[in-house]
Amino acid sequence: MSTVTQEKPAVSKPDASEILQNARSEGRSALPESDGKELLSSYGIAVPQRAMAIDPALAAAAAAGMKGPFVVKVSSPDILHKSDVGGVKVGLQSPEAVAEAVAEMQEIPAIAAARVDGFLVEEMAPAGRELVIGGMYDSRFGQMIMVGLGGIFVEVLADVSFRLCPITRDDAAAMLSELRGAKLLEGARGLKAVSKEAVIDILMAVGGEGGLLVENAEDIAELDLNPVIANESGAVAVDARVILREQGDAASKGNLPGADLPVLERWKPMFEPKTIAVVGASTKGGNVANIFIRRIKAFGYEGEIYPIHPKAEEVEDLKCYPSLSETPKPVDYTYIAIGGDAVPDVLAKASGNYQVAQVISSGFGETEEGKELEADVVRAAHANGIRIAGPNCLGLYSPRGKVTFAADPPAKVGGIGAVTQSGGLGTDIIKRGSARGLYFSGLVTLGNCADISPVDMVEYYLADPETKVIGLYLEELRDGRRFFDLLRTTPNPKPVVVLKGGRSKLGQAAAASHTGALAGDFRAWEAFAAQTTCALVKTVDEFIDALLAFQNLTVRPEHPTRKVTLFGNGGGTSVLATDFYADYGLDTEPFPPAVRTTLEALQLPPGTSVANPIDAPVRTLQQDDGKVAAKILDIVYEGADTDAVVMHINLAAFAGREGKDPIDTLIDGAVDVRRRHAGGAHFVMVLRSDGSQALDDRKRQVRERALSAGIPVYDEMAPAALALNAVKHIESRLAARLKQSEKE
Ligand code: ADP
Ligand code: MG
Repeated sequence: MSTVTQEKPAVSKPDASEILQNARSEGRSALPESDGKELLSSYGIAVPQRAMAIDPALAAAAAAGMKGPFVVKVSSPDILHKSDVGGVKVGLQSPEAVAEAVAEMQEIPAIAAARVDGFLVEEMAPAGRELVIGGMYDSRFGQMIMVGLGGIFVEVLADVSFRLCPITRDDAAAMLSELRGAKLLEGARGLKAVSKEAVIDILMAVGGEGGLLVENAEDIAELDLNPVIANESGAVAVDARVILREQGDAASKGNLPGADLPVLERWKPMFEPKTIAVVGASTKGGNVANIFIRRIKAFGYEGEIYPIHPKAEEVEDLKCYPSLSETPKPVDYTYIAIGGDAVPDVLAKASGNYQVAQVISSGFGETEEGKELEADVVRAAHANGIRIAGPNCLGLYSPRGKVTFAADPPAKVGGIGAVTQSGGLGTDIIKRGSARGLYFSGLVTLGNCADISPVDMVEYYLADPETKVIGLYLEELRDGRRFFDLLRTTPNPKPVVVLKGGRSKLGQAAAASHTGALAGDFRAWEAFAAQTTCALVKTVDEFIDALLAFQNLTVRPEHPTRKVTLFGNGGGTSVLATDFYADYGLDTEPFPPAVRTTLEALQLPPGTSVANPIDAPVRTLQQDDGKVAAKILDIVYEGADTDAVVMHINLAAFAGREGKDPIDTLIDGAVDVRRRHAGGAHFVMVLRSDGSQALDDRKRQVRERALSAGIPVYDEMAPAALALNAVKHIESRLAARLKQSEKE
């Protein structure tokens, strides 16, 4: 931008913290625009040459030392939107015009009534495309950065992209290309392209490592550079609003019980308790605590169970103890289901050894009246060496420790580490998940999360050798920043699938900036997912679909899933699927000629199409009693350079057909091919039924057969696409990390 004299950071200028501290000491909640620009400039961001003047004559004098045309703006802590009150004049051609503009502004009632710091006289930036770059402090996720195109794109369409700080250059580039209006930056309707590099430079100076937001995280609540004017050669921030954070005392949490233990040891009392105390079981039987005792017994729990009861001798045929400190051995895990008011007292009488207590009782922080009590519970627990899971939850399921709150779950230890903030959904996930073939390394319900956070469990599962993929149902997460840092700093992090409840919550109502108003809860989660090995899903079914894929497939960061092969019966099905998969960036590319020739040489019956998708009608699949599938798949695996194969079978098409039912052979063939090409393309299966009892039963049998060979099975093409898309996302994130760490 040749016509604007841009400031370069100079040693004599005040540094960022000085500018911020000055404003604080003047009792301001926001920086005057000129100081905001000074701050930007100290991070290398181009801003217009400017000067403050308190009257028309001084304004004219200031303009005389700059290059026109000029802009005049009122500067006042009482005026947030200067144009709204007539406080901005652009295109002023001479110092005289500048003086006149100031004099006119002084007459405007809204300005006359305000506390005015002065009038900012600045050089006018040449025309270009207007963008908004923003930043904000989010209480859960910490500093976040935003970019959008100016005007209606931000204000009406909310076409913006967010990320958590710090961002990388790749993140910054992705933010720009995510915008629906991204094409406008490339030049459209006679406009020239703008320098994306210049915009990315500003994004990095604001939100990159060592950037403005990152270095001043304690001070900046919200930041709006609205607009940044960009053209083909550069970008200038012509408005800067910096809102200060209220200074909170950085409350140090102190050392939590078990904090000195390595993470696997810290949560072992929960996942593999040797001793369990149960508070709330009655001699009459039948309440949840009694049921818990029966369930763990039925599940084969091998450790000692201590019912805690003030008076009774025996409960559920077990000897009772009057308090947690009178048990024969120290307790690892305590299950508490009594009236909420009585919980602090029970904890206060514990022996002081480190343990985890899960509080099933409700009536705590989920209601206004219960908030105090919840804090009391946590205080009493910490004072006695105890960490609290819950309250207001159902319990935990840990097959390796043979503990369960749910009835008759699978005994097998699997690879899915789950956490849910809703107990009821926890039961659903175990029941519906295991019906679909999911096996868990653990599932913890955490209810209100008064103490133990889902992030603590993520930390455990990341370190846990049994866990292959982590699944979370979250409603509200207070320590999102810790979660982010954990996934960022763990080498080779495991896939995480997040089912997020409460997505429709509006942006922060009290926000003073565009950025703050646009940053709803879900925006933050989308940003989180875009930067980490976390895939977001919207329903319990999608949650199970994605977990099923990660449980059975091995992610291939060296080959992020993009090219898919569809193979099965049902021409319409594959036409529809081709379109649908393409929407997810899963391309059904035609096979190389050599593959086609080899497939054609199989001389399959007429009606078979050996391009991609491979349409094989029932008659084809019946060839060699079904052995044909293995032949086709072998050719695909050997030559097709594909990332994922989706084999779909419409069971209805086989019903009532002459000849031997080839389906079992088809599956066995697929299992065999997959074994021979271990490490190759992902293999998933779609089994479609017509919903009749007979076919649903048949489907269940076939599914078992496939699942036991480690093949994830879906009911339809669409959920398989969704699952593969989640796989693709995690693979791409891991690939980006590899690339990043090679750079470093
Ligand atoms: P507001 O407080 O109303 O947001 P701005 O400082 O953003 O005030 O000014 C309003 C508009 O005037 C900007 O959106 C931009 O189009 C234009 N503008 C302001 N300053 C300059 C400048 N130095 N160069 C070019 N245009 C400017
Ligand atoms: Mg503005």
